[in-house]
Amino acid sequence: MQHKARKRFGQNFLIDSQIIERIVATIAPNPKDNFIEIGPGKGALTLPLLENLEAMKVIEIDRDLIALLKSKNHQNLSIIEADALKFDFDQLEEKVRVVGNLPYNISSPLLFHLLGHRNKIIDMTFMLQKEVVDRIVAPHGSKTYGRLSVMMQAFFEVELMFNVPKESFDPQPKIESAIIYLKPRVDTALAESALLEKVVKIAFSQRRKTLRNCLKSILSQQQTDIDLSQRAEMLSVDEFINLTKDYAKQN
Ligand code: SAM
Repeated sequence: MQHKARKRFGQNFLIDSQIIERIVATIAPNPKDNFIEIGPGKGALTLPLLENLEAMKVIEIDRDLIALLKSKNHQNLSIIEADALKFDFDQLEEKVRVVGNLPYNISSPLLFHLLGHRNKIIDMTFMLQKEVVDRIVAPHGSKTYGRLSVMMQAFFEVELMFNVPKESFDPQPKIESAIIYLKPRVDTALAESALLEKVVKIAFSQRRKTLRNCLKSILSQQQTDIDLSQRAEMLSVDEFINLTKDYAKQN
């Protein structure tokens, strides 16, 4: 069955067997692991993973690709026909390991969606645009450090595993990709992400301004020990967490 790649679904299919092997080795599946793959496509990662697993779930939005996967008749593959952005991971009975070569056009909203369901997640291994991975793992003080870095690092341990060249895909994307590993932090000092998200969003709304300026509608220097004469990019993730706690005390 021929399938023409659909841009609106961010379809860039992996065709490089060495890279596929390396991703599967990085994921290191154990037969009893409970996996869910987002966007299996034609099965480039799904099939080698299935070889190592008793069973696996996938979520795919493209009906043609769903038909293609179904036609392969894999008994131990359950196919969920859904938009991963709307999928309620909390409905899963057990915690899952999540994997995927994610559709680039929705990678950030998808990461935020998964953040909301982190209690159901054991770990996540994703292919993303290299630029997005760089932003997620960026240390404070760097230019790429921003909202995505703080939100992901507050709730996950994050690690850039390796880069993937454009030539590994068909069709070839315009930009480089990378594999990232994320594991929910057990030591997170915040139970809930909404307030942190609010503070971080306002703090980074005008990167050139000081925190005092950006945050003046919600918090003053008298209400926190964090030095608000700095710019948002200078604040570590733990400082953002403390700032959020100081903000919460005001409400
Ligand atoms: N895993 C395959 C591979 O590596 O060759 C395909 C990866 S391709 C970059 C992204 C996949 O995600 C496509 O199969 C696409 O149809 C699917 N997809 C796009 N948007 C989706 C969504 N909102 N929910 C679920 N799957 C989606």
